[in-house]
Amino acid sequence: MNAAPGKVRKVNCPQCGAVIAWDPGNPSRPFCSERCRLIDLGQWATEAYRIPQERPDEGQAETDER
Ligand SMILES: [Zn+2]
Repeated sequence: MNAAPGKVRKVNCPQCGAVIAWDPGNPSRPFCSERCRLIDLGQWATEAYRIPQERPDEGQAETDER
C-alpha cells in the first residue's frame, strides 16, 4: 500500500482548532478527540436549553448615570 500524505484530508477541530486528519476510523470526527466532541455537544445542549433573551435595554446608551 502506498502512503499518500498529500491525499490525507485534514480538518480543524471545531472545538479546539487542532488540525487533525480526517480519519474514517476516528469516531470523534470532525473533532480531534471524544473530549472535544463532548464539549461541543455540551455547548449545543446548553444553548438549546438557554432561551436567548433579548434585552431591550441592552442598547440603551442614553442612561442617566450622570
Ligand atoms: Zn479538539
